[in-house]
Amino acid sequence: MTPITHHLSDALLDAYVTGNLDHPFAVVVAAHLSLCDSCRARAEAAEMLGGALLDRIAPAPVSPGAQDRLLAALDHAPPPPRPITGSGIFPAPVMQALGGQPPKWRMLGGGIRQQILSAGADGALRLLYIPAGRAVPEHSHGGLELTLVLQGSFADSQGRFGRGDVEIAQDDLDHQPVAGSGAPCICLAATDAPLRFRAMIPRLLQPLFRI
Ligand SMILES: [Zn+2]
Repeated sequence: MTPITHHLSDALLDAYVTGNLDHPFAVVVAAHLSLCDSCRARAEAAEMLGGALLDRIAPAPVSPGAQDRLLAALDHAPPPPRPITGSGIFPAPVMQALGGQPPKWRMLGGGIRQQILSAGADGALRLLYIPAGRAVPEHSHGGLELTLVLQGSFADSQGRFGRGDVEIAQDDLDHQPVAGSGAPCICLAATDAPLRFRAMIPRLLQPLFRI
């Protein structure tokens, strides 16, 4: 397997470990971390740094009986649900976003399929399936797009992206990803604004892309 060559930025890692990333982006970051030892080590270092800062803050006094109340509450808490684990090409954070089920693809035309995993004011999270050798309609972004390859590969003006690679596309990037030959390319993509397509026909597809 080719090693991961496209990693998370420091800004994204910091936002993730401090809980400041919107849900769709946090899922992509978590999925990359589950595939990438080097970014996981960076995230742990950032967490330790954050913990060291917290340690310098004097602890607040706890009211008498608070510990007993906490322990009593824990005694009556329902058992935690069994965690959803990764399956096949989908790491655990993606399986969680899928609710533990395999994807339910929706055809977009040209053999391209997607499943919207979440969509709202904090952005959208989707799985995309692009047949080998197929181009995704050229588009630009109204914001940030994070794309993580789960199977196959794609290439665009930023380079070639294989399994585990993450592309960070800002709003100024016009790009036309083309899936590599071989296996279909399956990606997890988070966007914080609707994609803007340039050509007429893809513009007709846009309502499907943005739900
Ligand atoms: Zn990485």
